[in-house]
Amino acid sequence: MAKKGNLSIDSENIFPIIKKWLYSDHDIFLRELVSNACDAITKLKKLALVGEATLPEDFKPAVHVNVSTNEMKLEVVDNGIGMTAEEVEKYINQIAFSGATDFMSKYKDKASEEQIIGHFGLGFYSAFMVADKVTIDTLSFAEGAQPVHWESEGGIEFEMTEGDKAEVGTKITLYLSDDCHEFGNEYRIRSILEKYCAFMPTEIFLTNLDAAPVEPKEGEEPAAPKPVNDTAPLWTRHPNECSDEDYKSFYRQVFHDYKEPVFWIHLNMDYPFNLKGILYFPKIKLGYDSLEGTIKLYNNQVFVADNIKEVIPEYMMLLKGVIDCPDLPLNVSRSALQNDGFVTKIQDYISKKIADKLSGFCKVDREFYEKNWESLSPFVKYGCLKDDKFCKKMTDYILFKDLDGKYQVLPECLEVKPIDDEETEDGVEKVEGEIIGDEAGESLKEDEKKDKTIYYVTDAVQQSQYINMFKKAKMVAVMLPDEIDMPFIQQLEMKNEGIKFKRIDADIEDVFKAKTTKKLEEELKANTEVLGGLFKKVLKKDNVKVQVEKLKNKEISSMLTLSEESRRMQEMMKQYGMMGMDMGDMGKGDQTLILNANHKLVQFLLANQEGENVETVCEELYDLARIQQGTLEPDAMTRFVARTNKILGMLAE
Ligand code: ADP
Repeated sequence: MAKKGNLSIDSENIFPIIKKWLYSDHDIFLRELVSNACDAITKLKKLALVGEATLPEDFKPAVHVNVSTNEMKLEVVDNGIGMTAEEVEKYINQIAFSGATDFMSKYKDKASEEQIIGHFGLGFYSAFMVADKVTIDTLSFAEGAQPVHWESEGGIEFEMTEGDKAEVGTKITLYLSDDCHEFGNEYRIRSILEKYCAFMPTEIFLTNLDAAPVEPKEGEEPAAPKPVNDTAPLWTRHPNECSDEDYKSFYRQVFHDYKEPVFWIHLNMDYPFNLKGILYFPKIKLGYDSLEGTIKLYNNQVFVADNIKEVIPEYMMLLKGVIDCPDLPLNVSRSALQNDGFVTKIQDYISKKIADKLSGFCKVDREFYEKNWESLSPFVKYGCLKDDKFCKKMTDYILFKDLDGKYQVLPECLEVKPIDDEETEDGVEKVEGEIIGDEAGESLKEDEKKDKTIYYVTDAVQQSQYINMFKKAKMVAVMLPDEIDMPFIQQLEMKNEGIKFKRIDADIEDVFKAKTTKKLEEELKANTEVLGGLFKKVLKKDNVKVQVEKLKNKEISSMLTLSEESRRMQEMMKQYGMMGMDMGDMGKGDQTLILNANHKLVQFLLANQEGENVETVCEELYDLARIQQGTLEPDAMTRFVARTNKILGMLAE
């Protein structure tokens, strides 16, 4: 009953296109054939469960992949449901081939753009990517079914004859084409199976048909063959059944990372969609590790691909994990997935799970949370930048390290802190004077405004002078040393009305100043005018604004401040490579040289604006202020060292 036919493929050009298109990922043909084999076994087991099929007594579901270099062939054999002649006609001649045609007509123009995730959709037909000739030998489980032999050379014409397969199931044989001999190599095939089939639900065995079978030693039982896959990967089990050690060893096995993960989240969702998986937070030491994770996507335990950005938000790829989502529409193009409402729901679900877990730690096990914050922080901050909902959920659980190395969450940073005005530490003097506007109402308003400001340090060395002042005044500032911190705080400001971040050296805060009186104000104004003129004459710089203040700390002579807005503007320009451009004064920002009227040197200048040493003192005060900011250019540094030596020389005279 030989039956010949033409496969319903209208274009004979289909092969060159398929081959070229899938050039980078030929390997998936094996995934397709092995997953068809697993499906066939699952179907048979289901039928047996409902009594529609009888399994042989010693039934052991298995897929065998047999490879022969000598014969350049590859077999995929299953003991699944099998096919009758009608079914081969329907499923292979019509469905598989029309599926492939459909697929090609949809995507042939997009061939070079790699549009399909994991190249789903080609199925059985993908065998022709690597083989000139493909045969199917199959025997259906159905009572009285006859074995069928099917073969096709080139995938355009086929021939179907009576077969001789004696056991129920299907054997697909690929006669590899000349340019695909690599797939006749056992090790090559093993690595493909390990990549794509490592967690498929039926045991898969790989055999090299060329190798002589291993004879067991005298008196020993033959070693049981080992499957290449784990049929019940951890994510398919219920979280209650998994121990910490299970999670850790699964992590080592899949990600080859021998550092223990910080913690993990087991995703287990049945409704409204089916999603299972495990996400691991890897241990990160900033500066040493690259922040690159891997999220492996599976579809019913069949590996699809790593880091599919259309499904997994970019920031989650800092994590390591597996996600199995059978409901994902993987045979559509990537761009379609990007706008898929279902994908958005999945993302929201995962992001919510992560936020819940993290905030849970912060509330319940703060010690653990703080201990591991360094590993978590890049993820959390990046996540906040990329995902508004995540940001909103996490805002109150972001940790900030204060100047004493203690962690605080945002609400704690914003708490009202009493400012100790009776400070009597060294060099800090309580200055007498009548207070302007001391009605309770007014000062409360002032407090509220202040409470919304969070002071921060980006560089503990460069900003050390300010840190000392803050510490003495018992003011709180937080450390934000990383590159991500700047965009991150801007995001927090944008999303939380009233919260302002201000670098510690942006301004001289009121607490550092002597209490204002009308008299003092007028005095400082006059002093500012005098010294402003003097410095302008000496330094010959138009962009240095001078301001005389009376600081409580008598040891400080001069400081530089740069307003928060100007500095951010400068940083932005640096980031966009605009620093070299002539931006006039805007580029330089409004730096202010603060001179402390409470310091001897400043008092000296106020008393003497002419004389031998006046110029030296002015220049030295300016350089000292700049050095605290770490901003002396080479020339200025040379002059500073020479001048300082000269001044010290006077001490020795
Ligand atoms: P898909 O698997 O996406 O349906 P395929 O082209 O891979 O598309 O396969 C087409 C059909 O052929 C399958 O749906 C199945 O009914 C049948 N089939 C393929 N391989 C086997 C097999 N090993 N055993 C039984 N049926 C098979």
